[in-house]
Amino acid sequence: MKEQASGRPVTISEPSRSTPVYAEFDVVVVGGGPAGIMAATAAARTGHSTILLERYGFLGGAFRWQRGDNPRGFNQLPFRMMLPGRVRNLYVTGRCASMTHGAQSAARVTGPCFAMGEAAGTAAGLALGEGIACGAVDVAALQQRLERAGAYLGRQA
Ligand SMILES: Cc1cc2nc3c(=O)[nH]c(=O)nc-3n(C[C@H](O)[C@H](O)[C@H](O)COP(=O)(O)OP(=O)(O)OC[C@H]3O[C@@H](n4cnc5c(N)ncnc54)[C@H](O)[C@@H]3O)c2cc1C
Repeated sequence: MKEQASGRPVTISEPSRSTPVYAEFDVVVVGGGPAGIMAATAAARTGHSTILLERYGFLGGAFRWQRGDNPRGFNQLPFRMMLPGRVRNLYVTGRCASMTHGAQSAARVTGPCFAMGEAAGTAAGLALGEGIACGAVDVAALQQRLERAGAYLGRQA
C-alpha cells in the first residue's frame, strides 16, 4: 500500500464483489428530491427508458415550497455547474451541483433544484439521442428545448 509522508494511506483496496443486475435503463437518476424528480420526468419525456431510485419509501427529499405569488427574483444557472471535472456521463444536480458558498445560498433551494433537475434530464435525453457525452450537449439547443417545454430561463424580453 502506498503511503503519504504522514503515514496515512493514499488509496485503500476493497475486495471485489458481485452485484446483481436487476434491470437496464438509458438514464438512471439517484435521489427522489426536487432535482431528482424533475431529472427523471424530463429524461422520460425525451422517450428514453428512465428509472428513479430513492432510498426511502417516499419522494420529495428535503422539499418545502414557498407559498404565494410574490416572486423574489431569480438566478441564471450555467449548464457547466452540473458537470463533474473527471467523471463522464454524469450530471450532478440540485444542491450537490458545483457552486461557490455564496451562490449556494440561493441555488440550493427548491425552485432551482427543480430547474436543474429538469435541465439534467432533458440534457441526458439530448446526449442519448445524439450519441454524445453528457458534457458535449449543445447548450443553446438545450435552452430552446427547455423553453419549448415551458421552463423560464430569464431570457425573455
Ligand atoms: C431544514 C430545511 C429547510 C429548508 N427550507 C427550504 C425552504 O423553505 N424553501 C426552499 O426553497 N428550500 C428549502 N430548503 C432547501 C431545499 O429543500 C433543498 O435544497 C432541496 O430539497 C434540495 O433538493 P435536491 O433534490 O438537490 O436534494 P434532496 O432534497 O436532499 O433530495 C435528495 C434525495 O436523494 C435521496 N438519496 C440520497 N442518497 C441516496 C442513495 N444513495 N440512493 C438513493 N437515494 C438517495 C435522499 O433520500 C433524498 O430523497 C430547506 C432545506 C432544509 C434541510
